[in-house]
Amino acid sequence: HPAAPSAGDDAPASAALLARARAVTPGGVNSPVRAFRSVGGTPRFMARGSGPLLTDADGREYVDLVGSWGPMILGHAHPAVLEAVHDAASRGTSFGTPSENEVALAEEIVRRVPPVDQVRLVSSGTEATMSAIRLARGFTGRSLVVKFAGHYHGHVDSLLVAAGSGVATLALPDSAGVPSEMAAETLVLPYNDVAALEQAFAERGEQVACVITEAAAGNMGAVPPAPGFTEALRRVTAEHGALLVSDEVMTGFRCSRAGWWGYEDVDVRPDLLTFGKVMGGGFPAAAFGGRADVMALLAPDGPVYQAGTLSGNPVATAAGLATLQHCDEAVYARLAEVAGTLGGAVSEALSSAGVAHRVQSASSMFSVFFREGEVRDYDDARDQDTAAFARFFHAMLDAGVYLPPSAYECWFVSAAHDDAAVERILAALPAAAAAAAG
Ligand code: PLP
Repeated sequence: HPAAPSAGDDAPASAALLARARAVTPGGVNSPVRAFRSVGGTPRFMARGSGPLLTDADGREYVDLVGSWGPMILGHAHPAVLEAVHDAASRGTSFGTPSENEVALAEEIVRRVPPVDQVRLVSSGTEATMSAIRLARGFTGRSLVVKFAGHYHGHVDSLLVAAGSGVATLALPDSAGVPSEMAAETLVLPYNDVAALEQAFAERGEQVACVITEAAAGNMGAVPPAPGFTEALRRVTAEHGALLVSDEVMTGFRCSRAGWWGYEDVDVRPDLLTFGKVMGGGFPAAAFGGRADVMALLAPDGPVYQAGTLSGNPVATAAGLATLQHCDEAVYARLAEVAGTLGGAVSEALSSAGVAHRVQSASSMFSVFFREGEVRDYDDARDQDTAAFARFFHAMLDAGVYLPPSAYECWFVSAAHDDAAVERILAALPAAAAAAAG
């Protein structure tokens, strides 16, 4: 890993907090990618967020292009979300009973995403994918799960095989602590490769409970499905009686009002979909849903057990509902505009500095690969100059722009990224591109 922090890596309050944190928390962080291991330097401890901005413990301000890894689609501390949160919290923070907000949030999801007849709320994307897979296994009576290399579905044991996101950053092929018997129930295929999919199903199709796919991959950088791939997933799974699980934890309610499903112009209905991030409005709320006949197998109506003390939490659902209610067409238009401007400007700056790169997008999610040529799968994504990215990252950080601290992550814009925020990012690019050139 490039361990050397940049010359401007001056963050004494964050460094002091990191020292305290390391004494009581492994690596000093509660999710590995936050530790800056792949870019080096001191992870910034953030103290506050407002609109497109974050302020760290040293009082330095950054234009945020992480957005809490997706949830903050309206920007930080959006007044309508705060009001909904205050209002809900003042009436009690958890009941352990059903409550109206859960119904309203479920209704909003069902309204937005037609393939979802029914939805169950959980507290994290990991829980959503874990539960969807249990349900697919319960429905089909089969155990094998097909996933794609470089796709991340949370830290579910059986899905931590050839995963993207933090797993890619740490270069762990899989995680220690996952029994090989469990990994053996997972078949990993190259993404966007219809021939590999067909061959795997020809060999083991009758054992496959489901294929789980990121609706558009965002955890190895932005890698949308190639033309025809989503249709092939539907055709091949249907031919073999397996379910298609579309993981929209990252893309859901971000790529369009109906997520990637509403964005990609194909006529494909997944059997199950998983959601998180945006639908929680910055609180722990996530969901899985889909076909009524499949969802009917869930407890208490059916035999597939699934539960949660904080599932459908009244404050989290209020935040999620307020967020979704404010995600109108103007929000999606602004996300597209900002993403388009930034993607173009990054490319221009890197070209001027002679840095090999490729900007790819999946709707308003985009990322910059420090390599030439299209990225279609995990092998392509890994074939990039991560040291150049680390130099670019630190130059941007020094200039007050907070990028994802890994070359394998999407950049997330928000509707609160106004022209002033965009200008600050644009102004930082030439020097960062020069730094990337080395
Ligand atoms: N699925 C996808 C596509 C994700 O991007 C993520 C998180 O990044 C997850 C699942 C896991 O969600 P969580 O981190 O809320 O457990």
